Formats: sequence, C-alpha cells, structure tokens
Amino acid sequence: MINQLNIDDKIISLCQKAEIDLKNEFSNIDNLCEKNSLKVLKAFHDNCVSESHFNSTSGYGYNDIGRDTIEKVFAQILGCEDAIVRNQFISGSHALTVALFAFLRPGDIMLSITGKPYDTLDEVIGLKGNPSSLKSFGIKYEQIDLIDDEFDYDNIKKTLTSKKIKLIEIQRSKGYSTRKSITIEKLGKVIDFIKKIDQNVIIMIDNCYCELVNEKEPCQVGADVVVGSLIKNLGGGIAPNGAYIAGRSDLINLAAERLTLPGEGREVGPTLGINKQLLQGLYLAPSVVASSLKVAILTSYLLEKLGYRVEPRYNDPRADIVQNIIFNDPNKLIKYCQGIQEYSAIDSFVVPQPSAMPGYSDEIIMASGSFIQGSSIELSCDGPIRPPYIAYQQGSLTYQYGKLGVLNAIKRLLEVDNK
Ligand SMILES: *Cc1c(COP(=O)(O)O)cnc(C)c1O
Repeated sequence: MINQLNIDDKIISLCQKAEIDLKNEFSNIDNLCEKNSLKVLKAFHDNCVSESHFNSTSGYGYNDIGRDTIEKVFAQILGCEDAIVRNQFISGSHALTVALFAFLRPGDIMLSITGKPYDTLDEVIGLKGNPSSLKSFGIKYEQIDLIDDEFDYDNIKKTLTSKKIKLIEIQRSKGYSTRKSITIEKLGKVIDFIKKIDQNVIIMIDNCYCELVNEKEPCQVGADVVVGSLIKNLGGGIAPNGAYIAGRSDLINLAAERLTLPGEGREVGPTLGINKQLLQGLYLAPSVVASSLKVAILTSYLLEKLGYRVEPRYNDPRADIVQNIIFNDPNKLIKYCQGIQEYSAIDSFVVPQPSAMPGYSDEIIMASGSFIQGSSIELSCDGPIRPPYIAYQQGSLTYQYGKLGVLNAIKRLLEVDNK
C-alpha cells in the first residue's frame, strides 16, 4: 500500500523498525490519552452537558447556557476556578493580548522569564513600535533569558526583590526560538520559587501547544492564569476559531471586561452556532493530542536516524506537541515543508513558498493544508528562513495521516540530498 507513495524501500523499512522501537513511547501516550479522556468525560458529566447546550445565540448573546457550560467544562479540565472561552478571541495571540491589557495598568512592570515572548507579541508589548502597544500606555517590560534552557533563578530573585513586578509571563512552548519547551515539572518548581518571594505577582502562562500533553495543567502547579488557542490542542481540530483564558476568577472577570466592555463582561458574546463544535473538539482533543505526539515522536526518530539533529529526541520527555528538525540548509527546510503540504487533505496541489507574515519579522515558510485556516493541531510544518533553518512541525488529526505526510516530506528531503 505504502509503496503507492513511491518511497525508497530503505525508508519504508526504517519506518517499520521505528514503529517497533517506539512501542514503549507509544504505549505511554495511549496511557496518557486514556487518563485525559477520563478527565474530559468527567468534566462533561459533572457539568451535565446536554443537547440543549448546542444552542446558538446571536446579537448580544445574552443567556447563552451552552457558552456558560463550555466555560465551566474548560475550567475543570484545566484545573482552574474559572475560564472564558470565546469565538470573539481571534486566536491565542489575541487572548494573550486581552489578558495583558486586562491585568496591567500604566506604570506596571511585566516580566518575561522565558526570554522574548512569541513573535506576535512584539508589537503588543512594544518591542517593535506600535501606537497601540502596552508600552504606549506606559506599561514597562523586562525580560530574563533562560540559561542553557533553565530558569535564571538568581536573576529572578534579584528582580523580584528589587522592584514590584505586576505580572510574570512564562511561555511554555518554544515558539520560533531554539530553546527547549518548559515541562510541567520545571514550571511548578519556578512557580513555587516565585511565590515564596512574592505571593501577589500574577503568574500568567502561555500554554499554547501544551494542553493535555501531561497529566497536569499549569494552574494545578500554582499558576494564576493560563492562555491558549482553540486552533491548537483543546480545539481538537473541530473548533473553527477562538481561544481561552482560564484561572483565578478575579482575573477571568478582568479579562472578560476587557474582551467585551466594562459592565457587560462575560454576559455578552454571541456563539453563532459553534457550541457543539467547541464541545466536540474538546471531546476529541485527548486523542488528537495523542496522535500529534505519536507523529512528533515518529518524526524525531526517523529524522535522527537519517542524520539530522532533532529536538526533542524521540525518547525525551515532552512539554508540547512541537517537533523541531534542524536542517542547517534553507532548501531542505523548504522542501520538507512542501512535502508536508503535498500530503495534506486541503490545498495539496499548492507549493508553499517563504513569505512575509503579519506579526513575524523573518520570512516564513508554512505548510498548512488544513480544514481550518492556520490550524496547527492539524499536521503543519513551518519555520522562519533564518539559520539554523529549523522546521517546527506539529499536529495531526490522526496518526496515519501524519505518518503519510512525514514519509512524503522525507521523500522530498532526500531528493535534495541526492542532487
Ligand atoms: C501559536 C502560539 C501562540 C499564538 O497562538 P495563535 O492561535 O496562533 O494566535 C502564542 N504562543 C505560542 C507559544 C504559540 O505557539
């Protein structure tokens, strides 16, 4: 069957060997998937999710029982007091922005302890000039870089004891950086450390790509608030857009009043018929995340055996669904991404090219033949065209489609090698 792909026999047998060698890793993921499925199911049961929650509201969106229930279900799964889950959030970047504008006031200092935050926040923070940035409102920004992928505890302590920090942002997934993603254990440890110095600082986690990758979520290890995208893990590939902010109820209220308007907050927000999709996506999310993890692990194994540096390695603990392949060659990065696109369901005939993207400073190549525009819980692979030419591959609604995509990408990659 797989020979219809016209792939070198050596690659086919390498893949067969991989699936035998990865038995342990795959079985750990099946285990995780079972636990997370139970967690999701229990949240549905505890909140009495019923067909009536598939309701739709328009206009102001008052009294949307489906929306209110979805928010309770999300809060429970994320181990938080409260959550706001809305299609009025364009995506994760927008929810992060709303959260920052909701919690910070002129004169406040925001501190990132995982180095520079995700690229789309450059203009939000004001690292790149924008008349609507936090900076333009007099909100200051400071940053502490990771040292060899570890938190800089000395510097964190020095900063927290020398001035009042209002909010600490911790981005778990690596974005387009070359560092490792932050595991839930590392996160818990640094939060304990911070809270011992300052109980009041708001600890906000960018949780994009990390949901359901471990058994615990950030608020269960002490975070105050957590933000993520519904075109990633918790949308399960079904949510058409949106994002969530979850955490302490006082913070969720502030975020709601900022997303809509002071005085109306979470009481408004029409769901326009998406409640069922959000619930169904969440229901599928544990399995979709598990498929994504298996595809990431398979990719890591195969590309390592083919001589590429990969991060994480196939048997490393994982904090997110992102797999890096370090190509050290722009042409290889491009060909690999084109191979992924070629085996997408949608727009398979399109050949992606590096191009400028709003919110990003380098040209980016992006393979995303997805049902939902830009969805990266679906198999997708992208990377900025800058050394060391790293591919950031993530997602796959099923293991089988992911495996086909990766095998085809390897085939295209080897064509470069053979030239
Ligand atoms: C994807 C991502 C975002 C932004 O989410 P969008 O839904 O694409 O706007 C923010 N932070 C990290 C770490 C991400 O991976």
